This record gives sequence, structure tokens and C-alpha cells, in this order.
Amino acid sequence: MKQETKCLHSGYEPKNGEPRQVPIYQSTTFKYDSSDDMGKLFDLEASGYFYTRLQNPTNDMTAAKIADLEGGVAGMLTSSGQAANFFALFNICETGSHIVASSSIYGGTFNLLGVTMKKMGIDVTFVDQDLPEEELAKAFKPNTRAMFGETITNPTVSVLDIEKFARLAHSHGVPLIVDNTFATPINCQPIKWGADIVTHSTTKYMDGHAVGVGGAIVDSGNFDWMAYADKYPGLTTPDDSYHGIVYAEKFGKLGYITKATAQLMRDLGSIQSPQNAFYLMNGLESLHVRMNRHCENALAVAEFLNENDKIAWVDYPDLEGDKYHSLAEKYLPNGSCGVLAFAVKGGRDTAVKFMDSLKLATIATHVADAKTCLLHPASHTHRQMTEQQLLDAGVAPDLIRLSVGLENVDDLIDDLKQALDKI
Ligand SMILES: *Cc1c(COP(=O)(O)O)cnc(C)c1O
Repeated sequence: MKQETKCLHSGYEPKNGEPRQVPIYQSTTFKYDSSDDMGKLFDLEASGYFYTRLQNPTNDMTAAKIADLEGGVAGMLTSSGQAANFFALFNICETGSHIVASSSIYGGTFNLLGVTMKKMGIDVTFVDQDLPEEELAKAFKPNTRAMFGETITNPTVSVLDIEKFARLAHSHGVPLIVDNTFATPINCQPIKWGADIVTHSTTKYMDGHAVGVGGAIVDSGNFDWMAYADKYPGLTTPDDSYHGIVYAEKFGKLGYITKATAQLMRDLGSIQSPQNAFYLMNGLESLHVRMNRHCENALAVAEFLNENDKIAWVDYPDLEGDKYHSLAEKYLPNGSCGVLAFAVKGGRDTAVKFMDSLKLATIATHVADAKTCLLHPASHTHRQMTEQQLLDAGVAPDLIRLSVGLENVDDLIDDLKQALDKI
């Protein structure tokens, strides 16, 4: 099946007389006829549902659709994108491990790695993702366990050279994890370019309507954990909490997701509610239609802004002449996403006046949904930072992040025009 068809049909195939739309299994638990039946589930000897903290059918069907769209072998949902990135890394890292990550990643993930995981004894080196391979190779250490980047970074919309990152990760014997939130599998499938594990904040385009916070992890099944058994003891040595199961041996290509579900989800409990999984499943059905329109609208808006003399600069990978245009042509040939970054001339105060003058585009701490919204990181998400700290984080003080929605693009441009006239 092609991506468009998978959006509609993957993950849930009703049989004769069954509901057309995926049912919401709004149940914490599942009933069994014998104690032996249930015991086998707890020993991972049989597959089935017993408690929604570990697995739920609505979630699994939704995760299966996402895994299919990404070209992976298995997937799982999490309660948020933050939980997805944490689980994806913590599944293969422990105290003493080290991660190489792009410094341009989403601020929440930057904090997760640089502050919270650091407190757990997991070290990180942030790198400039645009550096040549020889330079980036210097970041690796004997205890490096993963490399991490975003297909399109939030909020600077930089495009990752996925093949370069994959080569670096693999030549150092570690997997590449790519957060594919902004591109979605409609516009890029990182696994095809060598990524081993893909993560998502499904809160964004996948849900698409600002309805439910959620996340997802997809494993390609391609990384050979047993070949680096000493690095990944969690997957390659017995888990005493399951009678000595060795995940990578017993479950093969499904080992990584099985461990993340059976062990991390059991112990850390960051499950997505089945109700939210249902909303997500619905959002996914129209993902391909929406992504096309988001990109079409965003390109028209980017071109309009680019030609306006009150605008200082515009970053949008689909724009000819953009710093990342050639990478976008390679990795995102059908369009990148609906998010762009730009600045009005005149600094912070003018930016605020411009934003407050908008009537259709709303100021919201959100991105990548059906309605156009925008945010000024220096005044909102990053407001505690000084100008220097902002620059160090790669966020220009005048950067406005505009998430172009599905409205008629003429209405959007008219709105921007009238707000620009006021500054
Ligand atoms: C929003 C976002 C996250 C975090 O996701 P939540 O669902 O808000 O927890 C992670 N990565 C990227 C690229 C994001 O845009």
C-alpha cells in the first residue's frame, strides 16, 4: 500500500460485522478464564492484554499504523512526545552512558537530555549538526550509546542530513534515533535513510487538530543489538524481572519495543489514554491530505514574507535559496512542513506589536495543527533567557515561529499584510 492508503487502512482491519472505526477499549484491565492463561502473559510466554498501563488494543492498533507509515517493524504509543524521546533513549542507556545529539533540537528535548537525564548520570554532547563528518566524529566516546537528531528542527526548521548522521552513528556502533515530528512519515521516512529508531510528538501534525498530547516510538528492527552486546546489556543479558528473558534473543527484531513496553512502560507508566489514541487514529486518516496543504500554504506565506521589506529574514526549507534547500530537496522532495521561522525588522518590541495586530493567526504555545498559530520564543517559551543565551541556543531573539494552518492562504496573507501595515 502507498502512504495515503496506509493512513486509512493500516493498523485496524475490521472483520465481518465489526465496527468500521477503531473501537476505544476504555478498560483498565482484561478478563481471563484461567489463572494459567494470565500467568503466561506475565511471563511474556503468550501475547495478549492484561493491564492498560502496559498495552491496550486501541493504542496498539494506532501504533501499528504509525509503524507501518514509517516502515518500521514495531511501534508503541506514549503519553507525550517527551515520554517518547525519553523512553527511546532510556531503553538503551543507563548511568554512565553518553549520547551525541544535535544542539538544534526542540527545547524540551534539549532540557530532557541536558538537565534531567544528566541528573540520572547519562551524559550528552550537543553538536552543530551542520559540521562535517570528521568534526562530528570527535563527539563520540567509548560510552556513547546513541545519536539523536530531528528531521526538521523545532523552531529553527533546519533539515538534518540523516544519511550523514546514520553513517556516523553506525561507524561508532550505535543506533541513530530521529525525531520525525515536523516532517511526519508523509514527507520523510528516516528509516529509509538509515535511522534505526523514529520518535514522534503525535501532539502535532499526526493528531493535527490540537486535541490530544501524545507520542510514539517506531523501531526499524535494523540495529543488531547482539553484535554490540556489551554496550546494550538491557537488551542482550537476562532481565531478572521476567525470569531471565533476553529481549534481543527471544524477540529478535521486536526486542527493542518489547523491552520498552514490558519493562519501561510497566515501571514508568507513561501510557497514552485509549481515548487519545482514538483521536490520533482519526487524525492519521487525513494526514497525507493535510500535510500537502500545510506545505502549499506555508510556501506561499514564506514567499510573501520573503518579498516584504518589513521582514528581516525568512527560514523555510522549501524556499529557493534557503540554507537547507538542497537537503530539503533530497530528504523532503514533496515539501517539508507547515512551520517557518522569520523576523520583522526592528527587534523584540516591533515583533510583539506585529503579533498583537494579527487577527486570524493566534498566539499559542502550539505548533503544527490545523489552525494557524505563532509564537515568539524570546517573549514566550524562552522568555527567561538573555539575548546571549538565546543566541547560544540557536534561537535568534527576533525569531517568530509561524505554524501555517489549513485556512485559505489568501486570508492568511491578508492577515499578515494588515499586521505588517501597523508596524
Ligand atoms: C513538541 C515536540 C516534542 C515534545 O512533544 P510533547 O508531545 O509536547 O511532549 C518533541 N519533539 C518535537 C520536535 C516537538 O515539536
